[in-house]
Amino acid sequence: MNFIKSALPPDPLPTKGYFFIFSNNRILIHPLSKNVPAIPCMEIEGAMARIINDPVFFGTYRNLPCYCGKMAGEFIPPGHDFINLRSLYTRGEEILWQMAGYARQLYDWNINFKFCGRCGTPTDRKRTEFAKVCPACDLHHYPRICPAIITAIVKKDKILLARGVNFPNKKMFSVLAGFVEPGETLEECVQREVFEEVGIRVKNITYFKSESWPFPDSLMIGFTADYDSGQILMDKSEVLDADWFDADHLPMVPEKKVLAGELIHRFVKSQKT
Ligand SMILES: [Zn+2]
Repeated sequence: MNFIKSALPPDPLPTKGYFFIFSNNRILIHPLSKNVPAIPCMEIEGAMARIINDPVFFGTYRNLPCYCGKMAGEFIPPGHDFINLRSLYTRGEEILWQMAGYARQLYDWNINFKFCGRCGTPTDRKRTEFAKVCPACDLHHYPRICPAIITAIVKKDKILLARGVNFPNKKMFSVLAGFVEPGETLEECVQREVFEEVGIRVKNITYFKSESWPFPDSLMIGFTADYDSGQILMDKSEVLDADWFDADHLPMVPEKKVLAGELIHRFVKSQKT
């Protein structure tokens, strides 16, 4: 792996570095060679002066420093462009989206914790780690991570898929997901979310794998489960549509590259063997 996380920039500092520059939900990318986006590699001095605001160093990639920050002003370097961060997830190389996701979460931490959440005093940045400390009350503010469960529910030869009210693509169906609440285990969260959203009970909840999901700050924890009891009864404030689908008649679903798509692909594969 060519990417090494670090809070302390190398000394001496190389003249060039990689710049993860955000504007709202978009990220600046390099000219698209063969439609593969790349992160801009620029002269550090020039980029700091003209292109990036309030940069945070967060590691090295191929021995060059990496910075994240907000776009400064309106200037976009010739040949560069902004794309939606989420689209980078399906178009970019895995290492690229891992770095971009990490950069996005540190960027959010940097802009969201400029003041202490408890007493309102401006915070100080801790030099050796990604922590902002309140000089008045000593509260530490770390990058925020919100755990969320995502579950593939199977009933004989069918999988439960739903269209969520917040999906960017309104035709897309996916497995159910929801945020973990204080005081509950991940398994309890699976039971609660599934029952709240579609009114059914599940059993045999089994951990599958997890995925960082920086939109804006989630950690998706993937599970599989079997149908236990109940009829689909949708919570219309969360779910537009939900149904059982067999492997040969799936609606539009997420790509295999993301955890939701991988869970669905796993079900399809299990039906063909
Ligand atoms: Zn404070």
